[in-house]
Amino acid sequence: MGLEDACVHCGFCLEACPTYVVTRSEIHSPRGRITSVRLGISSEGIETCMFCRRCELACPSGVEYGKLIHNVREESPVKKALNVVMERPQLAYRFFKSSEGLNSPVVRRIHELIPRMEAPLEYREESPEIILFPGCLMSVAFRRTVNNALLFIKSRGYRVEILNGCCGLSHYSEGDKVRSNALIQQLRERFKGRRVVSLSSNCSAHMREMGLNVEDFSEFALSELRDEKRKLTITIHDPCHANLMGITKSTRKVVERLGINVVEMDEPSFECGAGGGYFIYHPEIADRVMDVKAEKVKRSGQKLVLSTNPACSLALAFKGFRPLHLADILEGIEDLNPS
Ligand code: SF4
Ligand code: SF4
Repeated sequence: MGLEDACVHCGFCLEACPTYVVTRSEIHSPRGRITSVRLGISSEGIETCMFCRRCELACPSGVEYGKLIHNVREESPVKKALNVVMERPQLAYRFFKSSEGLNSPVVRRIHELIPRMEAPLEYREESPEIILFPGCLMSVAFRRTVNNALLFIKSRGYRVEILNGCCGLSHYSEGDKVRSNALIQQLRERFKGRRVVSLSSNCSAHMREMGLNVEDFSEFALSELRDEKRKLTITIHDPCHANLMGITKSTRKVVERLGINVVEMDEPSFECGAGGGYFIYHPEIADRVMDVKAEKVKRSGQKLVLSTNPACSLALAFKGFRPLHLADILEGIEDLNPS
């Protein structure tokens, strides 16, 4: 019996699925994708899945959709090449800098979505007690957040080293079994016997699902908070994989302990439109999903959006909001007065 056979076609997953919500097409729905796998027919819906896995949370039959799509997808050469570049944040930074002005739709889109990249922050103290793992995109697109996380951990008295690298979630979501397994294996060896704090919450979720023992930054912050308060009003976006693995609960507990005023948006875990690298390769659907998300955020009346995952933060910034990570709230508070 295959994973697809657990689906009873009830349709409870349809409204949870961002690609179905914006297309209203069965082909671009979880149920339609599962049917194509069951019938063994090719479908463009397999390619258009954002791999947010919101359908899994909505499914009463426990269909393991993430595993199913990982098993059947085949990565295109362009995606493979970009994933290989992202594995090494220093290389990603150099590629970004040298590709400015190149006449390629993919490169143009990358520069449109990521207006600024910086060299990854390098830092290592003698006998480090904690590895801070920013994740590939956070390393180059949100260097300041990495610095804020480093300052917060150091302020708690720990010696730290930063490990800039990739958890392989993008590779996994595109069906690249060999490379996603290899990256997890490398990290398993590197993390052995060490305390690891992961800064990108969807990476935290993926690494944990793959059996690695990592703390999300929100969990670290929760265990280290003193009697601190922040005078701030925000809305909160719940990144999809972090939400699936329950990590967003600790983010919200930190916010509560800090006494931050939260104005909830509709469906905080609704896909932001980034889908990892999806917003680079599928601009038409991604832009429509970003529009739906932007409406939900707008209705909260807030510009400041807590987002603990970098791709989500880029999508929110693309739509004119100001994303901030927990690390920015904890260490970058003086910059947060909305102008
Ligand atoms: S993973 Fe997301 S985009 Fe893909 S079918 Fe499930 S809900 Fe839809
Ligand atoms: S995936 Fe689950 S929720 Fe969706 S149609 Fe199948 S059984 Fe129903």
